[in-house]
Amino acid sequence: MLNQSFSRRNLFTAAATTGAAVSLLHRSDLFAAEPPKIDFSKLSPAESLVKLFEGNKRFVAGEIRAPRRDIERLREVAPTQKPFAAILGCADSRVPVEIVFDQGFGDLFVTRIAGNVASTENIASLEFGTEILGAKVILVLGHTNCGAVVATASARAVPGQISALYQLIRPAIRSAKGDVVKAIYENVKLQVQTLSEASPVLAERIAKGQLVMAGGVFDLETGIVHPVELPGVST
Ligand SMILES: [Zn+2]
Repeated sequence: MLNQSFSRRNLFTAAATTGAAVSLLHRSDLFAAEPPKIDFSKLSPAESLVKLFEGNKRFVAGEIRAPRRDIERLREVAPTQKPFAAILGCADSRVPVEIVFDQGFGDLFVTRIAGNVASTENIASLEFGTEILGAKVILVLGHTNCGAVVATASARAVPGQISALYQLIRPAIRSAKGDVVKAIYENVKLQVQTLSEASPVLAERIAKGQLVMAGGVFDLETGIVHPVELPGVST
């Protein structure tokens, strides 16, 4: 298990990279056509993060490319995959990850669960997506009006195993002092921290500069993914 200072240093690095990614969104080639074939696995972690946010920028601007979604691309990646980013997103039907980031087959390794929580099984999936498949970024993607966060805040009784999610989200509700809007951001930070601290596999990749952690909140009204500043950063 990692000590706190180690994890905070990792998060500082990750957050600083997120800020750099956002600052690069004014690049003039944002809407330029991509080469027909490009090996995204050669991108650096920082470049991979930029690529994600570029895709969201296109989506918001109504300038989507809907890239790599045809049968030819599927056949190309059928034998093997090299996703450049991994996403821990919510199961919500309004947050389809490839559409939000304007990506296609073989680009994103996505695990989705209500409340975008870092459960044991999701951590295992993300370890596979990074350690085995080589994704350079893990982005935890929350969203506005998230039912899982709202339900946890209300702490109302629910049937079956739904309440199993509550325990993973409740610390974020406490951090936000019950403010649901703030809790959605706090939940993203919390899940990033859990991933960084609970997985020696991910921690080692972060320490080696092979992986960056990032957070975002998808606004259901605007389509914008707002970067989430991570703990350990004073700005
Ligand atoms: Zn949700």
